Amino acid sequence: MKFILPALTEAKSPFFRPIKYSLFPPLGLATLASFLAPDDEAELVDDHVDLLTTDDCPDLVVIQVYITNAYRAYALADLYRAKGCYVALGGLHVTALPQEAARHADSVFVGPGEQTFPAFLRDLRAGAPQKVYASKSGRTLNGLPPVRRDLIKRRRYLVPNSIVVTRGCPQHCDFCYKDAFFEGGKGFYTQKVDDALAEISRLPGRHLYFLDDHLLGNRPFAGQLFDGMRGMGRLFQGAATVDSILHGDLIEHAAEAGLRSLFVGFETFSTKNLLDSNKKQNLSKDYARAAKRLSG
Ligand code: SF4
Repeated sequence: MKFILPALTEAKSPFFRPIKYSLFPPLGLATLASFLAPDDEAELVDDHVDLLTTDDCPDLVVIQVYITNAYRAYALADLYRAKGCYVALGGLHVTALPQEAARHADSVFVGPGEQTFPAFLRDLRAGAPQKVYASKSGRTLNGLPPVRRDLIKRRRYLVPNSIVVTRGCPQHCDFCYKDAFFEGGKGFYTQKVDDALAEISRLPGRHLYFLDDHLLGNRPFAGQLFDGMRGMGRLFQGAATVDSILHGDLIEHAAEAGLRSLFVGFETFSTKNLLDSNKKQNLSKDYARAAKRLSG
C-alpha cells in the first residue's frame, strides 16, 4: 500500500522556498497508515522530499490532496487507476470538492480520516468498498494506534518531531478551514492525556512542535498535558488564541512544561474586522498585555 503526499511542482525547485515544504512530515498519512494490519506492506512518499516513482502497482494508493497539489494529485491518481490500482483520495481539497475528486478516485474521504479510513479498509478487505466515506458524528481519538513514524524519513525534515494531540479548534473564525472540514460532527476533540504523553515519549530528541490549531483549546486537557510534561526536559512550540493567553495561568503552566514560542492569530486591531470575521476570541482583548505575558 502506498501513501502519497504530492508536491506542487514548483515546490520541488531549489529556488521556490524549499524550506517551507520540508518543514513537517506528513503526519496525516502516517496516522492513516497506523490502521493497516501488521502484515500489510506500506510505503509513505512525500513528494516534497522524496523521489516519487510510479513504475509500481500497489494494491491501494492513498493520496492527500491540497488545493495547491490537486492537479498533480489527480494526474497521479489517474495514472495509478489506469494501471488497475485502487486509488483513494482525501484531505482538505477533497472535502471541499468531493465530486471533483471522485472523478479521479475509486473512493474519496470527506472530513477527518480516523473514523472513515478504518471503515474503508474493512470494506476493501471484504471486497465492497464504497465510493464516498464521509466523517460524521462519533469522532474520537480514543484508541488511536500510534502514528506510523517508522514510515517517515526523519532526516529529511527540519522539524521531524511535529505532533498533533487534538483535532480542530473550539473557535469559529469565518476565514478558517476548520468548520468546513469538520462539518457534520465534532469540530474539536482531544486525545486522552495519557495517549498524548505516550506519543511524546516515543519522540527522540528534545524539541517538539505541536501543530494543533489551538493547544490551549481544552483547558483541563492542556493543564494535565503540561503537568505530565513537566520534568520531561522537552522544549516546544505551539499555537493558541489571544484569550487563552490572558485567561488564568495556563500559559505559565505551559512555560513550566517547556513552551518556548507560541503562534497567535492577532489578525487585526479593527473591532469591525474581528466582528466581520467572527473572531470573537480577540474582541476587546489587550494585545499588548498578551504579548507581554508571552515575553515573560
Ligand atoms: S482560532 Fe485559528 S484554528 Fe481556530 S477557528 Fe480561528 S483561525 Fe481557525
